[in-house]
Amino acid sequence: MTNTVAAQSQHHVPADLPEKIQHYIGGKFVDSIDGATFEVSDPVSNETYVRAAAGKKADIDHAVNAAAQAFEQGPWPRMLPRERSRVLHRIADIVESHDARLAELESFDSGLPITQALGQARRAAENFRFFADLIVAQSDDTYKVPGRQINYVNRTPIGVAGLITPWNTPFMLESWKLGPALATGNTVVLKPAEFTPLSASLWAGIFEEAGLPEGVFNLVNGLGEEAGDALVKHPDVPLISFTGESSTGQLIFANAAPHLKGLSMELGGKSPAVVFADADLDAAIDATIFGVFSLNGERCTAGSRILVERPIYDEFIERYAAQAKRVRVGYPHDPSTEVGALVHTEHYDKVMSYIEIGKTEARLVAGGGRADGFEVGNFVTPTVFADVKPDARIFQEEIFGPVVAITPFDSDSEALELANGVRYGLAAYIWTNDLKRAHNFSQSVQAGMVWLNSNNVRDLRTPFGGVKASGLGHEGGYRSIDFYTQQQAVHITLGEVHNPTFGKADSQQH
Ligand code: NAD
Repeated sequence: MTNTVAAQSQHHVPADLPEKIQHYIGGKFVDSIDGATFEVSDPVSNETYVRAAAGKKADIDHAVNAAAQAFEQGPWPRMLPRERSRVLHRIADIVESHDARLAELESFDSGLPITQALGQARRAAENFRFFADLIVAQSDDTYKVPGRQINYVNRTPIGVAGLITPWNTPFMLESWKLGPALATGNTVVLKPAEFTPLSASLWAGIFEEAGLPEGVFNLVNGLGEEAGDALVKHPDVPLISFTGESSTGQLIFANAAPHLKGLSMELGGKSPAVVFADADLDAAIDATIFGVFSLNGERCTAGSRILVERPIYDEFIERYAAQAKRVRVGYPHDPSTEVGALVHTEHYDKVMSYIEIGKTEARLVAGGGRADGFEVGNFVTPTVFADVKPDARIFQEEIFGPVVAITPFDSDSEALELANGVRYGLAAYIWTNDLKRAHNFSQSVQAGMVWLNSNNVRDLRTPFGGVKASGLGHEGGYRSIDFYTQQQAVHITLGEVHNPTFGKADSQQH
């Protein structure tokens, strides 16, 4: 049996795939107004398995109108938080009860290993549950100025929120925006990533079943430069929450400027994992392997640069490379797979080109190309480069695949300089048993999030966001509630009116 035949026989195609993927506007599934569609392929066969409606400005106008009408006239923004919370809990229940199907579709469409896709489906449910709870626990500030004034905060939803999401863990990242946007009483237009529209098409059914009123959730598929661009430029969309590449974020920032929109930007990363000689080496190796190879390396917070203190450098490289070679590349639907297929041929080509660049810049110690035994599909071997110089492209640029750059350092100050020496600042992982160093280093590293002797495990209450080219603003917990709400300050006089009097001086003289 040739590898190609083996590959085809191993290719799992879920039953009951949709015949087409449509927009969902004002409670109805619809095609694009001009009938345009685009091809959607799966990353194992790279063949088109469905066509999706390609939204343009007219479709965005249609969706924004539906969302604006639901905001102005519908019940959702006016419901009690407890009532909205019930709907959100039902959404979480439904997502949870469909987790296996969701994971199957997500894994098929995106190439994520099935076990990891299942974890992401459950996290999506948890996002809804979390914001369902938070919105009823929400309290706002009231200030008393004794005898003079009371000030309170009147918090209200803002309007139509535009949500633009990437293709890595698409369903979970959509839930990360949909949860707080809906919990706070906004209505939404979601523009999911064009590589992976399959799982997003399930939201409509889930929301209908949970009792979300018509027009509150709208979805327009399509290309970023068309549908995404029209959403960003729409004058009746006061908020854009965007997750994606830093360069796209810059463009959106400029396009939103004439409308002075509220923007939340979760962008790219090139996060350092810093391993000091006194670290628990076993734990550090396991964590840094997982940190860059989980989710196929297609992870914004991937620890894609590992900085290792010189005394343990050689041992670290040897052990790390040996373990990386044992990471299991396989078909996404196979539960034993640790790294699946990259999302799309375009992205596969990009990652492969970085691997070739890396071979000219550094020492290859594991992987280095297409995974053995896979003639078709976007399968890349976990790839490890050692002795990577800080000016190397593989040190500076986000690759967003299973590729890691390892660099030695000799002192804390050199480690800090290396850690901060890139344009990004999303996450940092620090491995040391020295308490003072751990805190001092964490507080000096330019990163929105730091994990100390820890893998990337995040409590939903904590702030999420990056600094420098990794983002603008923070979401997570109450910060998401803040982004999606207006906070009007209301001031009431209790005692005498505090009125410096102007314009009475002359009247006393006459
Ligand atoms: P991308 O920027 O290419 O696309 C993201 C979304 O933006 C897609 O829906 C796309 O259609 C849309 N888009 C593209 N051009 C647009 C435009 N001109 N106007 C409006 N919308 C437009 O990103 P991607 O390749 O889908 O995702 C990978 C990137 O996302 C990586 O850089 C990764 O680090 C980043 N990411 C960041 C986080 C985070 O929280 N910081 C999380 C996940 C992914």
